[in-house]
Amino acid sequence: MKAVLDISDLEEMTKELLDLTPDGWTRSIYFDVSKLLEEVGEVAEALNKSKYTDEDVADEITDVIVCCFVIALKRKIDLNRAMINKQEKRVKKLLKRFHDKECPK
Ligand SMILES: [Mg+2]
Repeated sequence: MKAVLDISDLEEMTKELLDLTPDGWTRSIYFDVSKLLEEVGEVAEALNKSKYTDEDVADEITDVIVCCFVIALKRKIDLNRAMINKQEKRVKKLLKRFHDKECPK
């Protein structure tokens, strides 16, 4: 496996998981969203309990990421494009907030 992954690699890995899961592609997207929430809870639990290691936390974070990719794939969302677009919006919003604070009306 490659040491460095990009978004298309993550999409391919997620497709492989969906292919290997009997109802992976056909189950409801709302099931996938509930799975995402379950995995977010597992991240919180791993962070809150001392018995969990950083590797455990990392495992749970990757579960969250896979759930996001599952939802994006089923909705045919290009996450590469979406990440770029959203980052531009975030930066623009933060710069505006900074600018508005620096230049009170
Ligand atoms: Mg998990």
